[in-house]
Amino acid sequence: PSKRYDGVDRNVWIEFTTLAAECKAVNLGQGFPDFSPPEHIKQALADVAAVDSVATYQYTRGVGHPRLVKTMSKLFSPLFGIEIDALKDILITIGGYGALYASISAFIEHEDEVIIVEPFFDCYEPMVKIAGGIPKFIPLKPKSKESAGTSAGWTLDRDELEKMFNKNTKAIIINTPNNPLGKVYSREELELIAEMCIKYDCLCISDEVYEWLLFEDNKHVRIASLPGMWDRTLTIGSAGKTFSVTGWKLGWAIGPSQLIKHLQTVWQNSVYTCPTPLQEAVARGFETEMSRMGTDESYFKILPEQLQAKRDRMVQVLKDFGLKPIIPQGGYFLIADISSLNVDLSDSKDSGDAWDYRLVKWLTRNKKLATIPTTAFYCKEHRHLTEKYIRFCFCKEDETIEKMEKILKEWS
Ligand code: PMP
Ligand code: GLN
Repeated sequence: PSKRYDGVDRNVWIEFTTLAAECKAVNLGQGFPDFSPPEHIKQALADVAAVDSVATYQYTRGVGHPRLVKTMSKLFSPLFGIEIDALKDILITIGGYGALYASISAFIEHEDEVIIVEPFFDCYEPMVKIAGGIPKFIPLKPKSKESAGTSAGWTLDRDELEKMFNKNTKAIIINTPNNPLGKVYSREELELIAEMCIKYDCLCISDEVYEWLLFEDNKHVRIASLPGMWDRTLTIGSAGKTFSVTGWKLGWAIGPSQLIKHLQTVWQNSVYTCPTPLQEAVARGFETEMSRMGTDESYFKILPEQLQAKRDRMVQVLKDFGLKPIIPQGGYFLIADISSLNVDLSDSKDSGDAWDYRLVKWLTRNKKLATIPTTAFYCKEHRHLTEKYIRFCFCKEDETIEKMEKILKEWS
């Protein structure tokens, strides 16, 4: 095997999704909705499949189906505050993963430093390493003990952030709304990151797959829309997260043509193109949503409202059980301090795993409750920061959350 893949063989999703299935556990682990997507997106795929047409059965344009990229340029141009060129500024990929992989492969070279803000979606680290880059980690930290209870209270320290940058820094990867903390970066926080990117002339890879999922009056600010940032930012998105169809695995990168053309080179030489019917269906889905924008029928209004209620329900259940959840501002997830759990893990002490890995395995096996350990979202050196937290996914049927409540009630 290629040495490039040394040390990246373990994968938290494979490990814990397999365990959850084996144990037939209530699954609050892997992030996917267990409820149906909106009717119109299901209908769009059904309509596409019902028509016998070469155009929808066979290969489409390699770097993005024309109807999809055209629709996306209409939708996203006003949101980014720039005229997005459908053919040059967008690459359609296999999921957000594909867009992250294309971005990192296209730009990261041997010994390039890449700053990754913790907690981070786990695949950033191996992707940077496989490309030969050196990941440099900086954690979001609670400003004070009082502010630690909400994701908004977790921030980057200006001096600490500036110290991460140097002449070898090629890129910074951020994620807003964040998985797993649920942090939504404020404009001021993004302005600070933008200032550093411009000062040290580096790229920003902004993972915004949860861009529509904001609670209360939190606003999604696209760092690419800040002054001087369009030219140096790759924004990652996911149809899976947008339309609750994670199994469709369709995503994209949006950015200036001079950057996107290098991602297109990666794509045309590796995957070449994405499934045509899915791209056609997602195009129609976006067209429907554009006609509903701002109305009560908009899925971009309905889904975050539903998720906020589910978040609140889950927060209450966890609090009633004596745990301390950190209230997220957006996304699918929350993390909760579970240090008060009195579980004897001495059996697994020698496994070499972090405490949260051992605890999550214990919970899945013994209480039939599947979650995700948060140290998966930290580099090895920083694991101690959240070893006593675990991640819960609240993008679930109310019934699933009730099952979790039942398990915790019976336990206490
Ligand atoms: N980024 C983040 C922050 C994620 O949580 C995920 C998981 N969906 C992805 C990227 C990958 O998205 P996709 O499933 O579309 O590949
Ligand atoms: N993004 C989802 C999560 O964080 C799924 C990740 C995966 O299955 N690879 O749970």
